[in-house]
Amino acid sequence: MKYAAIFGILFLTTVLVIAINKPDDSIKKVPGVPIHATAVNIADNDTLPEGGGDFTFKRSDTEWKEILTSKEYRILRGGGTELPYVNEYDNNKEKGIYVCAGCGQKLYSSEHKYDSGTGWPSYWRPIADSLVEERIDKSFFMTRIEIVCSNCGGHLGHVFDDGPQPTGLRYCMNSAAMDFIKAEDERSN
Ligand SMILES: [Zn+2]
Repeated sequence: MKYAAIFGILFLTTVLVIAINKPDDSIKKVPGVPIHATAVNIADNDTLPEGGGDFTFKRSDTEWKEILTSKEYRILRGGGTELPYVNEYDNNKEKGIYVCAGCGQKLYSSEHKYDSGTGWPSYWRPIADSLVEERIDKSFFMTRIEIVCSNCGGHLGHVFDDGPQPTGLRYCMNSAAMDFIKAEDERSN
């Protein structure tokens, strides 16, 4: 009985040692190709300065709270969504451009704005594709394509494929994430 217990402990220890030393084949390293989104990379990202990422225009979280109103902060930095219909630019039909409320980058033109009936300002294209970036957004049990400002990373809205031609796209934006510059003001700048 005593020997059985000793063998039992030895056996369990051996199994444990083998299990601990088992190589982790869940991450397969391809020579010359860096592994993205491993636990190590995610830990590294957590050490980036607040408001970090690969964006040119960077501010700390404290600075963003000083620059933006609480509503702008909730949307641009927190990925929030404003109420439909009662927002500032849904009904705006004036000529001009819409810029990022966080960093001032030009985003959309009134030339590409249309009434989507959704209650949010909608455009069938940005002024240039390079001005916005797309990201996969899996919040609220949906998979959507999020649109962020390519200069500061601020959340602007989402893009859907039910827009008018020629693109068939609907860039559904939050008014509070943008500032509007009227055409005549634009010229005087
Ligand atoms: Zn921006």
